[in-house]
Amino acid sequence: MSELANYALKTSVGRIYNEEAPRYRTDFQRDRDRIIHSSAFRRLEYKTQVFINHEGDLFRTRLTHSLEVAQVGRSVASALNLNVDLVEAICLAHDLGHTPFGHTGQDELNQCMLKSNGEGFEHNLQSLRIVDKLEERYALFDGLNLTFETREGILKHCSLSKAKELGNIGERFLQGTRPSLEAQLANVADELAYNYHDVDDGLRANLLDFEDLQEVTLIREQLKLVLAKYPNLNGRRLHKELVRQLINMTIYDLIETTNNNIKIHAISSVDEARVAPLSVKYSDEMSQMQRELKKFLMKNMYRHSKIMQLRFKASNIIRSLFEAYMSDSMLLPEQYQRRIDSDGVNRVVADYISGMTDRYAFRQYNRLFTVESV
Ligand code: MG
Repeated sequence: MSELANYALKTSVGRIYNEEAPRYRTDFQRDRDRIIHSSAFRRLEYKTQVFINHEGDLFRTRLTHSLEVAQVGRSVASALNLNVDLVEAICLAHDLGHTPFGHTGQDELNQCMLKSNGEGFEHNLQSLRIVDKLEERYALFDGLNLTFETREGILKHCSLSKAKELGNIGERFLQGTRPSLEAQLANVADELAYNYHDVDDGLRANLLDFEDLQEVTLIREQLKLVLAKYPNLNGRRLHKELVRQLINMTIYDLIETTNNNIKIHAISSVDEARVAPLSVKYSDEMSQMQRELKKFLMKNMYRHSKIMQLRFKASNIIRSLFEAYMSDSMLLPEQYQRRIDSDGVNRVVADYISGMTDRYAFRQYNRLFTVESV
């Protein structure tokens, strides 16, 4: 690994519970390893982004998405001489708190929680809750006891009222400062990865039409470049080369713009990065093109009738499960019932539902509501 830049994070300010330093790893490598060995990480394999898990074996799940985010994050981090291990840890943990059934599940659970106690449900906060509290695998502490730096990266956004409850991790929201450049990068890597793999999955599922996709400036321009290089290419290889070209040129833009921002803002330490304007980002032109792509995906893919049907079903399942457990907490597994006194029934039900994989949620729904499965 090349030497870290002076604006890269080198060491941690610490963990919630003091532990001996790892013998053969850095603190951030230890964080990454703990995340990979967690139950919440393994469950990502059976949670979806846009499609429902068993709709097809080739679509992205939250696990493959998280691995792709980490890959993008590592590449960019190493080009910018940022701390690759820290970026990797944040990227791998960023979706741990996601509900089953992608954003539909999150929206529905949020609605249910808002109605029942006004608190709502937010997957970022849930990711933090998992690594700070819900994982049970160490003798000395709850959660994974990760470093402050990985935890601050996981908490991408947060309301001011919530920030006040969170102690040092919430402080930056109250002060209007920024997280480390590594955390900023993990955030952009997430967006970059999902925009393009949604294009990839959308083409594969025939939800997106190759001709229609060329309405999007970025895609039209990059397709021209691919065809100039390979005039006879068509079908799947053309679609794959296009996605590859899109990812590469977007990453180049991100690296060059960020490098430039670091110079313009004269950032020469971690502390300066926290008070400087947001630095890890695309050029204005690229941001504009990304917005156009997102708008296209929203209209043509996320609201496609096939997806809307899945979303309808997913919402019903989440709402029905929530109402059932709230109406009788004895339906919850015992280890969840035990936490009701300390955490409140709403939060315990949200923990249980959000921890489910897609197929586990289906199974629980059938167990409670379908006559045949009794
Ligand atoms: Mg994500």
